Amino acid sequence: SKKVVVKIGSNTLSRPDGTLNRDFFKDLAGQIHLLREEGRQVIIVSSGARIAGVSTLGKWNRKEDLHYKQALCSIGQVELMDSYRKELKEYAVVIGQILLTKEDFTDPNRTLNIRNTIFTLLDEGVIPIINENDTVSVDEIKIGDNDNLAALTANLWNADLLLIMSDIDGVYDKDPSKSPDAKLLEVIQDSSKLISRIEVGNKGSFGTGGITTKIEAAIKVNEYGIPMILANGKKEHIVSNLLKGTAKGTVFLP
Ligand code: ADP
Repeated sequence: SKKVVVKIGSNTLSRPDGTLNRDFFKDLAGQIHLLREEGRQVIIVSSGARIAGVSTLGKWNRKEDLHYKQALCSIGQVELMDSYRKELKEYAVVIGQILLTKEDFTDPNRTLNIRNTIFTLLDEGVIPIINENDTVSVDEIKIGDNDNLAALTANLWNADLLLIMSDIDGVYDKDPSKSPDAKLLEVIQDSSKLISRIEVGNKGSFGTGGITTKIEAAIKVNEYGIPMILANGKKEHIVSNLLKGTAKGTVFLP
């Protein structure tokens, strides 16, 4: 896989107490550097702006109306990018931020513009880091979750692989937090039929979409002939190990 989109979930990049996990960013930067050494191109789609905003302000129990949530994302987005920038700088890797909304994928002019900007960044050896523009997006015009955003990005770029890094090893037949006997489904051949075959449980504490939006993402990219892997981003060297085939995850084959 030459062109890889890596999506990082909120639970993956934060600690259980809600602060950004520096060790995670360090490990990820090292892995991204390796991928590039191997001749791969990488786009990151990252969640976590809101949780980073909460931990920056330190107000954990405030009631969050729409504008407060958007304010949190505005604060946290900077912290998030700061973490990526600091760690990737260690490998002399430059990053570029792209904040998108749903319209960017429905208006052909905007889509073309974004495509060209992404290609320009990659040509310059820069890693684009994409997130939804939560400060301007209200529910009606939202993509709503970064799993779907990552899938749209993979399709737009014609990626070879979408990697979704969550806090779980993959899709289980039952909710793993409730059923200790839940079995990891390692290979999915028909993503569009999966949802009716599994039990969907709650999402993680800072997550937005849960397992449902990850399956939606798989369906989206599989339709374009792109495989997707869902795996546990909290495990060290997971990206490299997945590409070597030595780590566990759920592979969705087109
Ligand atoms: P992220 O922040 O990575 O997007 P989410 O919290 O939104 O993560 O979604 C992942 C969570 O979905 C897992 O931590 C798990 O608890 C939950 N989940 C519910 N049902 C399932 C299932 N059948 N298989 C795997 N995970 C599931």
